[in-house]
Amino acid sequence: MGNHQTIQSVRGMNDWGPVQSQQLQLIEQQAINVFAQANYLKTRLPILEQTELFSRGVGNATDIVEKELYSFADRNEQLLSLRPEGTAGLVRALIQNGWWQQGQVVRYQYLGPMFRRERPQKGRYRQFTQFGAEVFGGSQPIIDSELIQLSYEWFKRLGLNKNIKLHINTIGKLEDRKRYRAALIEYLQPFESQLDEDSQRRLQTNPLRILDSKIESTQQILQNAPKLKEFLSQESEEHFSQVLQCLETVGIEYHIDSHLVRGLDYYNDTVFEWVTDQLGSQGTVCGGGRYDGLVEELGGRTCPACGFAAGLERIEALLEVTSPAEESSQTDIYVICQHAKLSGVALKLSSQVRNLMPDIQVLCDSQLGSMKGQFKRADKSGAKIALIIGEEEYNAESVVIKPLRDERQQQLILLSNLNKILPTYFT
Ligand code: ATP
Ligand code: MG
Repeated sequence: MGNHQTIQSVRGMNDWGPVQSQQLQLIEQQAINVFAQANYLKTRLPILEQTELFSRGVGNATDIVEKELYSFADRNEQLLSLRPEGTAGLVRALIQNGWWQQGQVVRYQYLGPMFRRERPQKGRYRQFTQFGAEVFGGSQPIIDSELIQLSYEWFKRLGLNKNIKLHINTIGKLEDRKRYRAALIEYLQPFESQLDEDSQRRLQTNPLRILDSKIESTQQILQNAPKLKEFLSQESEEHFSQVLQCLETVGIEYHIDSHLVRGLDYYNDTVFEWVTDQLGSQGTVCGGGRYDGLVEELGGRTCPACGFAAGLERIEALLEVTSPAEESSQTDIYVICQHAKLSGVALKLSSQVRNLMPDIQVLCDSQLGSMKGQFKRADKSGAKIALIIGEEEYNAESVVIKPLRDERQQQLILLSNLNKILPTYFT
């Protein structure tokens, strides 16, 4: 007997089995389709990047960079990090590869794993998957609205549009925010010792984040704080009202949430989240906004941009609540072979049938043994028909088709007629 200890997965990193993987694939496929239809081009980007990309791109004072990065020194001492989000990497790629030229509007989508060293809990993992869409080169409000509209369309195709609500806000230009930041710090300073611990830490680094603190006593203090709204420029107000107008015209309900600021440094003007009340406190399934300064911040030319990212595991969890998945490994045709020495013939036939009817699932018996056992398994598989290969049939270049779910007689057909006859069982 071995006394080896079993090895466990890393905390906060999940194994998704067949049912959930199937759901996740459906969610991904719908996203890819909806956005590809609107000309969002596909990208695949590295999971590892230089740490500096995130400290500059996401912001040093954000939770993500301050506490959650998985970083290590490579053998040449270069500091690398697993990506905690996708936007910074896409912007890097955009600049590096010239994926954007002045005067153009370009749209991109991405999909893949992200890593954050958070405290794991339901809906909050250390490895999770994001789908994201980003538009570069345009500052018109129609772009913000398009991103919201398409994300809504995606949820609608998943049947989730009744379960989610759009929260939206404007946080103005960087300069407006700087002035507001100063005013907020000045207001909060006298209350410093009464703030919760996180908010105390954020007071000097990221005071706007205090606004969405969940701590009651902190919210109390905030009641008389200066409001960001009072610091907005005419231009920002105009932009926001046009975004909202577009949403009204396309029929998307929204809730203006003046405390919504988002956790990343790079946003300006529009910020939004899609939120559900059916997943407890991890109810934000998607978040995004405008980030006109990021491309320049990372060394590119001035390039206004807007985008969002959605957490697929949370959307999957929401789907499980609203329309639970079923085990769906379905077999349509079961291939039985009388003798092990005909195995190659069975594999060849299976493959011919799969090519003939690409949407049909064909399972080839792999335990072989008695015909009785094979028929039992064929029956259990749920297959509609069995294809039986025996010595005699093989010699006669033919195969038996046996219906398993109805009273029709089995028939012996020539392999050369398979193309014509087999599809008739599936019309
Ligand atoms: P939260 O407020 O829930 O921490 P966030 O503001 O950190 O979210 P973003 O960085 O905007 O989230 O990421 C966009 C989306 O990615 C989130 O709305 C969520 O659906 C998903 N997401 C973020 N962090 C995690 C995580 N640790 N586990 C699972 N999904 C996540
Ligand atoms: Mg977070």
